[in-house]
Amino acid sequence: MAEARAQAGGVVGLVPTMGFLHEGHLSLMERSVAECDQTIATLYVNPLQFDDPADLDRYPADQDRDLALAEACGVDLMVVPRPQEMFASPPLTRVTVAGIGERLEGEFRPGHMAGVATVVTRLLAGLQPHRAYFGRKDAQQLAVITRLVQDLGFPVEVVGCSLVRESDGLALSSRNVLLGERRAEALALSRGLMRAADRFDHGEKRATVLEAAVRGAVPDGALEYARLCETSTMTRTAVAEGETVLVTAARFGPVRIIDNVGLVADRSGGSADRGVRLGHPSLIYGSEGT
Ligand code: AMP
Repeated sequence: MAEARAQAGGVVGLVPTMGFLHEGHLSLMERSVAECDQTIATLYVNPLQFDDPADLDRYPADQDRDLALAEACGVDLMVVPRPQEMFASPPLTRVTVAGIGERLEGEFRPGHMAGVATVVTRLLAGLQPHRAYFGRKDAQQLAVITRLVQDLGFPVEVVGCSLVRESDGLALSSRNVLLGERRAEALALSRGLMRAADRFDHGEKRATVLEAAVRGAVPDGALEYARLCETSTMTRTAVAEGETVLVTAARFGPVRIIDNVGLVADRSGGSADRGVRLGHPSLIYGSEGT
């Protein structure tokens, strides 16, 4: 990592990923390339953030394809650290962001958020970027990283980027290729969120009603949570006022997916941030399409 950092000059942008790149990752890279002199992307499937070993085992990977895609985006350096380069020996240190990292994903995936925060801290220390790009798809992760950077005084600007959806609304995730026949069922989550966003746009601010719109769309037993939270602290809020986000997680067979819509209310009403939709099948499906 030190070598990669030494090679980079000017304003350096960092895009951390776990690989099996899709258009969501590429949108972060494109933004960094447009805004920074040099862009470093990392590809590291971080074992610390997997609470379920089976999930780690089946996590999709295609390094050659990832390297080609990142290069085509204009990424200057793709860093693929070996585990021993990330941590000389298994780290005893964990970075935990109290409260923000302990709720939601922290409850359902014990150790996950600390694993993310620890690895991002390691990448920021090793690569010393000026700007670091993260997707709003992982709203809680973005809140955790924003706070850890503030608390630990890393001289980096954290940049939150739009959530990218497949053409039918499913939030893009590398894990979507694992959904198979359950993909149609999994669409219920984004459908529920879009219903909630529509209600918000029509003036509905009550958390109970917005959360129920999601609950009503998702098959029984699949939903882990649907919670309206204040965006920077991830605390539950009863009313969508100021900057809030309706965060959700659900399981379809062995695949767990998360999704959200941002709900920003102001005096003139408010607007739901549904993210951006692809106009074509995602590249994760190769030439087969969906
Ligand atoms: P991952 O490889 O899943 O760890 O994601 C790496 C980065 O890409 C994180 O900052 C994610 O929030 C971001 N990302 C993943 N999926 C999306 C998406 N659908 N839209 C925007 N950003 C995303």
